[in-house]
Amino acid sequence: MDCLFCKIVAGDIPARKLYEDDQVFAFHDIGPQAPVHFLVVPKRHIATLNDLGEDDKALAGHMLFTAQRLTKELGCDAGFRVVMNCNAQGGQTVYHIHMHVLGQRQMHWPPG
Ligand code: 5GP
Ligand code: ZN
Repeated sequence: MDCLFCKIVAGDIPARKLYEDDQVFAFHDIGPQAPVHFLVVPKRHIATLNDLGEDDKALAGHMLFTAQRLTKELGCDAGFRVVMNCNAQGGQTVYHIHMHVLGQRQMHWPPG
């Protein structure tokens, strides 16, 4: 499959891996928007949040829990932000769902 994040999960494209288990893979974003900026993706290809099914609810929770656990390792105790972009107007550029996790700087609201 011609999917960038499937290739990263498979090890065909290198990435700075933070964590992996049977369901999820986490790695540093190549274009960090904060001192800490990593991505959590499911190993199975799911193109957008709209493609999540009933059976994926536990997986989505596991992604969120993985994000939270990694922030503790990366020194984000003062706070962090989790973002998922969906489709073009949501700002999605890679069509394999991913949680952005940003930390170690002050976040602002509303986001751009
Ligand atoms: P999106 O815009 O789809 O929400 O986020 C895609 C993210 O993937 C961007 O933050 C971008 O910097 C990151 N990204 C794109 N290509 C690569 C890559 O080859 N390696 C890594 N580690 N991150 C990437
Ligand atoms: Zn994929």
